[in-house]
Amino acid sequence: MEVSSISSNLRKYAFLNWQEASEAALTKGSTLVWPFGACEQHGPHLPLITDTLFSEKILSDVFERLPNDLPIWTLPTQSIGFSPEHLGFSGTLSLSGELMLKMVTEVGTQLAKMGFQRLVFFNAHGGQIGLLQAIARELRVKCPSMAVLPCFLWSGVDSLRDLLPDSEVEQGLHAALAETSLMLSLKPDLVGKERPADGGLNTACGENKICVPDGWSLEGAAPCAWLTHDLSDSGVIGDSKGSNSALGNDLRKALVDHWTALFINLMASKWPDVE
Ligand SMILES: [Zn+2]
Repeated sequence: MEVSSISSNLRKYAFLNWQEASEAALTKGSTLVWPFGACEQHGPHLPLITDTLFSEKILSDVFERLPNDLPIWTLPTQSIGFSPEHLGFSGTLSLSGELMLKMVTEVGTQLAKMGFQRLVFFNAHGGQIGLLQAIARELRVKCPSMAVLPCFLWSGVDSLRDLLPDSEVEQGLHAALAETSLMLSLKPDLVGKERPADGGLNTACGENKICVPDGWSLEGAAPCAWLTHDLSDSGVIGDSKGSNSALGNDLRKALVDHWTALFINLMASKWPDVE
């Protein structure tokens, strides 16, 4: 099949007919990218769909820059995810970890059976990183012929450190400077006027808030599986003040550059064994 013949649709799996899907699956190095988002509160100023929109938009930018002849397609987005930490806020929808495991494993197994050789989870919701990594391992064991790569939009992008203050990198966990700025770049009409600063280690000891014990952390080394209400009344964890579209444009470029390079490297590789 001429892979480039469907590039005008950014190589969307669901736009193929069944014969094209069959050919796509059997193409050497066939790779699918599954965008994962969430439908969860993002403070009083960002929409529920924030993470979903990020994974779709960044991936769309990345696919515009990938060479046309690569056998890579995007799957329909999973726009409701695993968001139990935000269920205390109205609007949030969350699937159980058990259901996510079952759903992703069933779909993944069908894709492997068709012959696809790689499946990338392109996830933009921080609260499901660990779950998707565990699911990826289980799926790989079940379908050893298909590589499974569970990545997180904001992870491993070194250039973000040059664009964001340390406080945001370390404690801007949710709906803070980075996410608000990126949304101002991608979809400014969905961004409200408020710019809360809430939650995080420095402010977690305020009235009615739980203080993270010394030596423990929100994420990282010794994490404490926080629920948003432990830390924040507004739903924001971090500081959204100073968010702006120029920073958002820079973040967008950094993310697109990073993931374009990683997808090109992946497609040039033989991982795991695509002979
Ligand atoms: Zn988010």
